[in-house]
Amino acid sequence: MSPPSEFRPLPPGAPTSRGQSLSASRLSPLASGLSLHQHDIIRLQDVTVAYGRRLAVDSVTAQIHCGSLTAILGPNGAGKSTLLRAILGWMPLTRGEIRIGDSHPQHALPRLAYLPQRVDVDWDFPITVRGVVEQGRYPALGAFRRFRPADHALVDRALAEMKLTDLQDRQIRALSGGQQQRVFLARALAQGADIFLLDEPFAGLDAPSAAELAAVLKSWEQLHRTVVAVLHDLPLARRVFSHALLLDTRLLAAGPVAEVLAPASLAQFYPAANNG
Ligand code: ADP
Ligand code: MG
Repeated sequence: MSPPSEFRPLPPGAPTSRGQSLSASRLSPLASGLSLHQHDIIRLQDVTVAYGRRLAVDSVTAQIHCGSLTAILGPNGAGKSTLLRAILGWMPLTRGEIRIGDSHPQHALPRLAYLPQRVDVDWDFPITVRGVVEQGRYPALGAFRRFRPADHALVDRALAEMKLTDLQDRQIRALSGGQQQRVFLARALAQGADIFLLDEPFAGLDAPSAAELAAVLKSWEQLHRTVVAVLHDLPLARRVFSHALLLDTRLLAAGPVAEVLAPASLAQFYPAANNG
């Protein structure tokens, strides 16, 4: 399945139904020996994705903990965006398996929300802030695509949480970069997502907007929302994120951010990195 165009309605059930369609095994957390807090909400097993014959992601096995903030780091072309798209169910896997939320009693139906790379968004598309946030409800609407009061309420709440209520009638192209990111986060919130996949959410933001976004993500950690974000800024990853995956087509390292981004570990795997 190819990704939906950013401003077109998603078909009902896609792509947020990814977690719902994956119901293979039903291990209880106790049976798997994990406490709820350590539960892995995304499990990648030997995940391999290719464009034609070229491998973009090769044999990646990793887990994302429920309620963690996980940074995906790696050089350009490392397969970071491809991995997010695979988790969303937009890329067929050449090999391996991705399981999402299939053994967590509190997340029987986890929903994935996606924040695209800014370069992938058509900022000239004529749509208001509220219009973008309403898109978050489309997959959940019934056959007649009618908004019910509960849908409007979710949109209102998402706009308020992202401090966009006063800007809701503006065209998105008229907003600052930081405000535009908040619009897409609000769309993800309106969707009722548990898992947020963010592709380079800090790219192109000025320092105040980046600080504001970092504060939002930190507060989401307190709310036990799971965030997986592609980043380039190692100090930011250390400051804000709890876990990290270091990717260069293959997985180089994964674990708590302090371990993965420890200077010794980085020097081994990522010599050209900005190791400040
Ligand atoms: P990253 O996000 O880490 O920069 P990508 O996931 O975008 O990396 O790309 C990984 C590899 O796959 C790169 O070699 C890139 O050129 C290739 N690639 C990405 N998208 C496509 C595509 N649509 N068609 C063919 N190759 C692609
Ligand atoms: Mg990318």
